[in-house]
Parts: sequence; C-alpha cells; structure tokens
Amino acid sequence: MSRFYATTPIYYVNAEPHLGHAYTTIVGDALSRWHRLLGDEVLYLTGTDEHGLKIQQAADAAGLAPKDFADQIAPKFADAWQRLDIANDDFIRTTEERHRAAVRELLQRCYDAGDIELDTYRGKYCVACEEYFTEDELLEGSLCPVHKRPVDDFEEENYFFRLSRFEDRLLEHYRTHPNAIVPEFRANEALGLIRSGLRDFSVSRTSLSWGIPLPWDPAHVAYVWFDALTNYLAAVGFGDGTDRYQDWWPVNYHLIGKDIIRHHCVYWPAMLMSAGVELPRGWAVGGWLLVDGEKMAKSSGNVVTPLDLVDIVGVDGFRYYVLADTAYGNDGDFSYDGLVGRYNADLANNLGNLAARVATVVAKKCGGVGPAPSADSALAEIATAVVADTTRRWDEVAPHRALEATWSLIHAANSYLETHEPWKMEPGAAVDAVMGDALEALRLVTILASPALPGTAQVLWERLGMTGAVTDQRIGPDTEWGGYLGGVNVTKGDPLFPRIT
Ligand SMILES: [Zn+2]
Repeated sequence: MSRFYATTPIYYVNAEPHLGHAYTTIVGDALSRWHRLLGDEVLYLTGTDEHGLKIQQAADAAGLAPKDFADQIAPKFADAWQRLDIANDDFIRTTEERHRAAVRELLQRCYDAGDIELDTYRGKYCVACEEYFTEDELLEGSLCPVHKRPVDDFEEENYFFRLSRFEDRLLEHYRTHPNAIVPEFRANEALGLIRSGLRDFSVSRTSLSWGIPLPWDPAHVAYVWFDALTNYLAAVGFGDGTDRYQDWWPVNYHLIGKDIIRHHCVYWPAMLMSAGVELPRGWAVGGWLLVDGEKMAKSSGNVVTPLDLVDIVGVDGFRYYVLADTAYGNDGDFSYDGLVGRYNADLANNLGNLAARVATVVAKKCGGVGPAPSADSALAEIATAVVADTTRRWDEVAPHRALEATWSLIHAANSYLETHEPWKMEPGAAVDAVMGDALEALRLVTILASPALPGTAQVLWERLGMTGAVTDQRIGPDTEWGGYLGGVNVTKGDPLFPRIT
C-alpha cells in the first residue's frame, strides 16, 4: 500500500480561524480524502503555531501566560476543522514536547554541518511580520509592505542560517524535479526568488523568551522559521531518536498559500539539505481568496468567518464553493453572491435536482426499487472518461478541474433523462433501463464528489440503497460501470441542497 502525507501550514494563534485558513485546510482535506479513495494510507496534518513575539504580546495584553493564551485559541482551530468536516489525522501544536525535540534536532544538525553561525544583524524590522526588510522592499516612508506601518531599526546578535550557500543546490533540485511545485507558474515564482540571490536568514533571538532555546546556546531562542516549519517533521517522529519518521517522510505535499513560497520552497529545502534530510516530494501553492479585491486581514476589517457561511450554504456547500470556484493557485474573489450563485447552480439545480428526479421516477415507475444499469448504456463511456479525468485532475492538485470533470457526468445524466423522458413512459423494461443507468451515474458521482461533499455524499449513498460508507469505496474496482446492482430500495428524502432565494 502506498502512503500519502499532506500538511497545511500551522496557523498562528494570534487570530481566530478565518476564510483563508479554511481554504487551504479544505483543499488539503479534499486531496487527502481523494487519496483515501485511491486506497492510500493517509496522514493529513494541520496544527497551530504558538511561539513568537506576537503571541507573547497578545498574551501580555490579555493578562495571560503565553501558553495559557495559546491553550485558549488552539481548540478554536480544532473545533472549526471538525465543523467543516476536516478529517485530519493529527493536530500538532508547537508547544508540544515532540515538536520541541524535533526543532532541537534539526537546529543541531544544521549547526553541526556548519551552516548556522553567529553574526550581528542590523535592519528594518516589522514586529507584526516578525521579519526584517531591505530598504527596497519597504514602501515609501519606510513602511512595512504587508502592514503598511512603520518598521523599527533593530540590531542584535543572531545565529544565521547560511542560505546563500544553497542557491546552486536548490536550483539543481528543482531542475531535476520539475513538477515538485504545482501549479507551474508558482514554481516559476520560487525559482525567481532563488535566482534573484539568497540572503542568510536569522534563526535566533535573544530579545525573545517565548520559544525553544537553541540546544548549544540557550541564551538564544529559535526564531520563527526553524520553529514553525519543523512541525512537518515533528509530527512523524523526527527527533525521537529513531528513524521512524522515514515511514512517512518525505511528505507528498505541503499545501501553502502563495505568501509563504519563500519560506516553504526556498528556506525549508535548504534547511533539510543542511540537516541531511530528504526534501519534500511536492508543494501545492494556492492563491488568496480576496474579499473586495484585498487579502483578508484583521487589520483590513474584511475578515470572513467560515462558520458564518456554513450557516448559509451548509458545510458541503461551503466546501464545494472554495474548491470549485477558484482555479487552485490563482487568487479567487470571495463574494456572498458568488457563494449562493454557485450553490444554486451546481448543487441545488444540478446534483440536487438529479438526485430528486431519479428518486421520484423510481418511486413512481419502478415501485421504489432501483433497477440495474445496462452494460451498453450511452452513459457508460462518458462515465469511464469522467472517472479517468477526475483522477488525473486530483493528481494534478486541481480540485476545480476535478469537480468540473465529475459534474460533467451529472450534466450527462440530466440530459440523458431529458432525452428519454422516463417520467412519460409506462412502467416496464424501457423505464428500468433508463433509471438503472441514471442510478449508476449517480452512484459514481457520489464516490467521485465525496472528497468535496463528504456528508452529503454519504446521505445520497444511502438513499441510492447502497450499504456501508462511501469513503470505503475505491477508485478502480468500485468505479467500473455496472457497480450498481439494483434490486435495492431508493428513497427520496428532503432536498439535499434546498435552493436559496
Ligand atoms: Zn509587517
């Protein structure tokens, strides 16, 4: 059996879960669910980033110890993921001992390799970004390009990771692994960052106490990147004194947003090379879901809370929208009208309508018992092509294309019914043949759409008279045309996706 390991970024606990967090987490969840359908053993990891100056400051402001502050926020992420039907297998917090052990191990390996050295750093520092900027990166008036507020002059003794030594090795790696970063135009961004020259980056602070002390110099605390990124190794047991982590490492995909390409596709592989750890197999880079044309941010006051949207279109309506509406990799434009429009068009009118229609006709013309499909149905060839296309698109980490492929089978089944008009026929073999084909198409759609719509897919599965869990189906053996055996009760039930007016 093959293994599939995917990660989201760990989310910083200075804010509560918002649409941006939900977006990446849902894409990773759907991709992981697809791999479970393929029969892979899956590890899907998410978690929270709990160290650093911003947390220390937020905790101070709340009158709490930093760990107590983090303890209040981390469960909000875990709860949000549960409510969005995210089937993560693990949830890592950077304040856990397993994480501390992994960070210390990785730092020590890079230090022993001679790639971490003490130096003095002077620069313009944005506290909110926890990052230094060069003069030409700053906006006019020495403002942080992200937060558009003044940066501070900082000078301190830091340990530095000698990233500048890794330029050739990184370029060589990406040259020999041309599909490692998807989609391709995001790979070009990573290559552009490497070719424009790599600067050593600071890995420690003495001004900070809320973090993990360096193993060889505890006056310094590990600074954001070595701490945060290492969670991906920590979760699979790196640093526990064994090679157990190699059961899951290298990771198949790091799912990230475009704003952290530099850290994930440049810093992280260089750190791993230095430490003698294999590089990730892949990175899947998403764009931002813009709200009113801007990145959602607490400071912009345009934060959209995912759980509010769930109240409008349901969990699966929301999941479907973020997966289908934006080409993964590109920026998307989030809007209420877009959300409701897509829900009505694709879910209420297409999938929901097909399911209701089929159940109604089976009740009226087939005595409520689903007939078996015919082997030479006109839908069979389409269905086989749709299974192949859907598979290829998930493999490319293109959920919008995968769902488009799956929905083309829904369209085909709806037109098949409109062509044959079984509701006008007398009960008998002709109706049975048409309805058996439509039921088989729906059975296949239910399996193929289940990564996006896990809850609804199971409901529909049972209404078709199928037993067991739709998630236990396997692409291949269970997606051959003819799997619907017939002779089982079909039930209509309430609308799967009530139309929103
Ligand atoms: Zn900033």
